[in-house]
Amino acid sequence: MNPPRRRAILIICDGLGAEWISEARTPTLARLMANHLRAGDHRAVFPSVTRVSAASIATGCFPGRHGLEGNQMALVEDGRIVVHNVGAPSFRETMRRVTGRTLRVPTMAERLAPHGGQIAYSNVSPGAAYFLDPDHFGTVLHRAGSFGPGGVSLTGDAHLDVTHDLDGDIEMTRRFCDEVVPADGFGLAILWLANPDLTLHHDPLGSPQHLHALEVTDRLVAQVIAAVEAHADRFDTLLVVGSDHGHETIARSVHVGQWLATQGLEADLKAGRIGVASQGTSALIYAAAGTRRALADLLPAMARQPWAGSILTGDALAATGLTGETLFAAVDTTRHDEPNEFGVPGTRWLVEDGEGTPDIGCGHHGGLGPSETRPFLAFIHPDFAPGEAGRATSLVDIAPTVLGFLGIRAEGMDGTPIST
Ligand SMILES: [Zn+2]
Repeated sequence: MNPPRRRAILIICDGLGAEWISEARTPTLARLMANHLRAGDHRAVFPSVTRVSAASIATGCFPGRHGLEGNQMALVEDGRIVVHNVGAPSFRETMRRVTGRTLRVPTMAERLAPHGGQIAYSNVSPGAAYFLDPDHFGTVLHRAGSFGPGGVSLTGDAHLDVTHDLDGDIEMTRRFCDEVVPADGFGLAILWLANPDLTLHHDPLGSPQHLHALEVTDRLVAQVIAAVEAHADRFDTLLVVGSDHGHETIARSVHVGQWLATQGLEADLKAGRIGVASQGTSALIYAAAGTRRALADLLPAMARQPWAGSILTGDALAATGLTGETLFAAVDTTRHDEPNEFGVPGTRWLVEDGEGTPDIGCGHHGGLGPSETRPFLAFIHPDFAPGEAGRATSLVDIAPTVLGFLGIRAEGMDGTPIST
């Protein structure tokens, strides 16, 4: 009899900050963290937004290497800085048209194509789903369109026709447990749940809605664990369970572009020589070479604004792992110590540029705050001894760990394998 075949399953609970895991709220996750290898000092990437996180998990690289700089990011088109929403299903086409490619480094889907392949079920934004495998080396199932290797459209029962809510997460997990966990055809399978992130964008941290989303999410993880255990005789499965970022409370908002316009840069904004891309609780400011001096001269005044928590440029910005040809600065918004209505400490400013009306009192993320930068991560397999990883880890360490387990070379990544 052949030994069970090695494979990995990765579950991402979007927006589930490590601080929300407890025996009372999330008993399954609490036990995973207590009884298996956990990343005790685990960090989000910057900006701490879902689409960038998906690309960093997929490639094992920081955004300065993979090139997906934000949930919104600027491209230079006909000499103009144009800010795009990366969540749109069409953004990959735009990126290819303007830059000649999508991500600049290979994804796990590409590396795994000759080694069993990758299949992903995702219920977040189309952009975040498709950037797990932007060039269709594997299979991606998403409500906006499902695709097999080579970009073959999957329709009918093969498509993932679920709603973008908690019920959709429940139905997606049921299908994942029925269709993927017992199946033979993958090296890595990814289940990316929309919650609790989706709930938190419309409800406060600590609210009954948030706690309900946590409880349901915890149960969905338990379902996958049970399904994996039911097939333990056939497969040697590494189960990786984690999140991409946490959340912070929005109490105020600012339109950075409007502020720049009042400081004399309106013509530069209109002409596409400056662009502002909101990342929720932070902003990326893009500038053409000729306008950088004027913008640099404004930074001391910007730093005195109540919403400007910290402004990163040059080496300080690069140290976060984020660089870009026209990217000039990043602003992380101010954090105030006040609690929200459910007693959760800390509030932030939302950057409105391209984000629309802020949901004051609800959750958001994208910056360098203490809660949004603390996702969780655990590895469940006998090869990974229980306890805490003895170092700071990041989303970019997931890919090399998974590929190492599968015996596949993972050269050229920013991350390194995690062990006890
Ligand atoms: Zn997310």
